[in-house]
Amino acid sequence: MIIPLIDLKRQNLSIKNEIDDIFDKIINSSQFILGDYVNRFEKQFAAAHGAKYCLGCGNGTDAIYITLRALGIGAGDEVITTALSWISTSETISQTGARVVFCDIEEKSFTIDPEKIEKLITSKTKAIIPVHLYGHPANMTKINEIADYHGLHIIEDCAQSHFAEWNNQKVGNFGIAGTFSFYPSKNLGALGDAGAIISNDKSFINRARKFSNHGSSKKNFHDIEGINSRLDGLQAAVLTIKLKYISDWNNKRKSIFNYYNKSLLKLKKIDTPIINDKVVHGYHQYVIRTPKRNELFSHLVKNNINVQIHYPKPLPMMKAYEYLCHKDDDFKVANRVTNEIISLPFFPEITENELDFIINKINNFF
Ligand SMILES: *Cc1c(COP(=O)(O)O)cnc(C)c1O
Repeated sequence: MIIPLIDLKRQNLSIKNEIDDIFDKIINSSQFILGDYVNRFEKQFAAAHGAKYCLGCGNGTDAIYITLRALGIGAGDEVITTALSWISTSETISQTGARVVFCDIEEKSFTIDPEKIEKLITSKTKAIIPVHLYGHPANMTKINEIADYHGLHIIEDCAQSHFAEWNNQKVGNFGIAGTFSFYPSKNLGALGDAGAIISNDKSFINRARKFSNHGSSKKNFHDIEGINSRLDGLQAAVLTIKLKYISDWNNKRKSIFNYYNKSLLKLKKIDTPIINDKVVHGYHQYVIRTPKRNELFSHLVKNNINVQIHYPKPLPMMKAYEYLCHKDDDFKVANRVTNEIISLPFFPEITENELDFIINKINNFF
């Protein structure tokens, strides 16, 4: 048996007839970029996430970049973000001309540690970007308190946390904006690149919309220079179809998560993921922690189980950030965690047979 980390084909084939139908319609109407399908998806996604507005864009990376630029963040500014994320979170800060300031993470949730944010704030700090990593929201109560006190924007990177909640509120609604990725392997995935921004601030979303479409809100008239990052009609249509099934798929993710937890809890050498009381988890990755990570990784790969490490190094320790001259000690927790984490195969369509096979191999190893 070969077990993939994620199998997109199973999900996409299950709705292939609906996709074929809508693609026929779009080819006939030529609504390829923006248009009715995009408008409909934006409305439905905003509503599903409890936000007033949504702007579709090219991908989740652009969603962060557009947000930063629409807030006027650039050269001379600083933005604080977590040491453990995908590089989109930090590279977009640098792309605006601002300086990225990394913060260490919490030992339990792997998200930005609010206790360590305040000493990173300077007179140049403009925003904080928490990432709800693996689907577990960051501590938004504390982050909001800090941001309010210092007058900073909060931009939530929700690329891994569609429909997750903190304190009975959906992520993406705690600050000026929440940014989403619909990269094919995300919980809500397109058939290519796609992304979105949600917000409850009309003037912000209008500025973001204009910036994402060449600085134009009226065709052939440009108020500012912008970029080209728009959502495709085909992708919007696929995402609208998937929205009908997402809560069902997320419930499946939840039971798989609990099945893993129940089966692995008794192994002393493994820490299963912890969920804070205030949290509805987004169930994006199932990540365990063990001091025997490298040995377990090889053992599972040898048994045709595709596992991954999200991520092997904290961002500030990557070559791209050598210029910041950080030492391992600056991110004690992130450095420790990245040596011990391993992501197991996790997707709604994984079978009980496959799960038992994986759990068996882990049991054998220990
Ligand atoms: C996937 C991801 C992104 C970027 O999304 P793309 O659509 O691939 O550009 C940003 N941040 C995080 C945390 C991600 O996991």
